Amino acid sequence: MTNNSPWIHQLDHSRKRTPLPADLLTDVAVIGAGIAGVSTAFSLLKHTDRKVALIEGYKLAHGATGHNAGQMVTYFERPFVEIVNEFGLEMAAQGQKDVDGAWELAQEMYTEAGLDIPMMRFESYSGFSTLAQVLEHLEDDRLRRAGGIRTGTLEIWEEAPFLYEIPEKYRKLFVLVPREEIALKLETLDPQYVALLPEQRGVMNSALFCQEVVRFLSEKYPDRFALYEETPIGKVAVHAEKVLLDAGLHTIECGKVVLCTNGFENIEIFTSSGLEVNSRFHHSLHGVVGYMTGYLEPKAGVPAAIHYYPAVDPGLTDTPGAPYFYVTRRPYEYQEGGNHNLISIGGPDVGLESRAHYDRDRQFSEKAKKKIEDFVRQVYDKKENLEFLFTWHGVMGYTKNMLRMVGPDPSFGRLYYNLGCNGVGLLPSIFGGDKVARQIAGEEFAPSIFDIPKAPRTRAESLPAPALSSLLQ
Ligand SMILES: Cc1cc2nc3c(=O)[nH]c(=O)nc-3n(C[C@H](O)[C@H](O)[C@H](O)COP(=O)(O)OP(=O)(O)OC[C@H]3O[C@@H](n4cnc5c(N)ncnc54)[C@H](O)[C@@H]3O)c2cc1C
Repeated sequence: MTNNSPWIHQLDHSRKRTPLPADLLTDVAVIGAGIAGVSTAFSLLKHTDRKVALIEGYKLAHGATGHNAGQMVTYFERPFVEIVNEFGLEMAAQGQKDVDGAWELAQEMYTEAGLDIPMMRFESYSGFSTLAQVLEHLEDDRLRRAGGIRTGTLEIWEEAPFLYEIPEKYRKLFVLVPREEIALKLETLDPQYVALLPEQRGVMNSALFCQEVVRFLSEKYPDRFALYEETPIGKVAVHAEKVLLDAGLHTIECGKVVLCTNGFENIEIFTSSGLEVNSRFHHSLHGVVGYMTGYLEPKAGVPAAIHYYPAVDPGLTDTPGAPYFYVTRRPYEYQEGGNHNLISIGGPDVGLESRAHYDRDRQFSEKAKKKIEDFVRQVYDKKENLEFLFTWHGVMGYTKNMLRMVGPDPSFGRLYYNLGCNGVGLLPSIFGGDKVARQIAGEEFAPSIFDIPKAPRTRAESLPAPALSSLLQ
């Protein structure tokens, strides 16, 4: 069992790949052709008149973009209250609004590129099983509303054992519902799930999206855009008047460079201050491998993207934050004309050793498969003979404070970042691409939670989130 992703399966495998054939002079080089790089290129071509070269070390959209759950979501992988404590309510709320704005940007890309691939938006749910989970979401919800962000209303089982422990200040932030309502929306009879949060979610094959957007860019901007694949960049040298990229046999000279590399693979950055940016960059990011499985079923049931937060941690994850399983159901064409739903399930992940190299052909983890099987049988689908048609994994580059890095380097204005994908990165990548392009076009922005810090920011440096006991007062 290796790495067999349903998103890569749907790509055009006869598409011709072009490695960089000679030295190149361009205005902007974007390194990394996942959704971050493709969105950045799209926005640069739209908002500026610059020439853009998109440089990919391997193949278009074969990184995390080709190995994810494909859910379009805009939440942070960190309680909102922590972000408020670190940056203040106004900046945290603006960060959330920025990422929420990516729904429209994604739609804009879809429409302008004339795409006809499935991309859907609908209401779906997170299911909770403990008081602590419910309180965390109520506090986040309270702060989001205070920051002017629209959120869904939490629904709690009218006989949940902890009802009387919920502080009065949250009374207007939830409604009580019968158990059947929860079972119906979460599609499970597992009695541990006693509350749910509705949220706008969507689905797409982000690899196919990238392939089709690149096709459009190549046709619309033949003189200003080129994609070079199988062209790994080993070194980036940022000089006062230009940037040089070492592409092995050839050199790329550009005015600006945008790193859309997911933050992990080997690349060294040299500046007039030596390797200071390089070590800051590498110390800011670490890798986590996420594991997923998928199976087909007859097309019945509307699209769904449901998250399940169990009461007891099943030893699922190395990343900070509450562990959860995520189930996605969507129409999926396995063979031309075939008409199925794909059910995909994720949750287990494993941290990578610092700077260890991720092997995209590594075997699928048997442990992860077993955890997913147990979950599916207990919670989602009682099927006896569960056969996974797809098992796949991908690497997520996590920043220390779990927020994406978007914008120029604080010391070197020719160097930009749109990376640190984290596990929720599709819409944030699209937001990041738009922002970086506008910055390169000269637009000024207020300070943001996504700005690149001068020194690696750690999560511990942020003020501690209020303890559960203080939420109960
Ligand atoms: C299992 C899993 C599930 C996920 N589920 C979701 C989800 O449901 N919703 C969601 O929003 N997000 C999800 N994500 C995260 C999401 O997939 C990523 O945030 C997103 O794809 C990041 O895109 P990217 O372009 O930054 O990175 P990538 O897609 O990894 O692209 C980076 C590219 O840079 C190239 N590159 C790196 N270094 C170099 C170099 N030196 N020279 C040239 N090229 C280089 C790589 O080859 C790669 O193609 C998930 C991720 C995983 C792994």
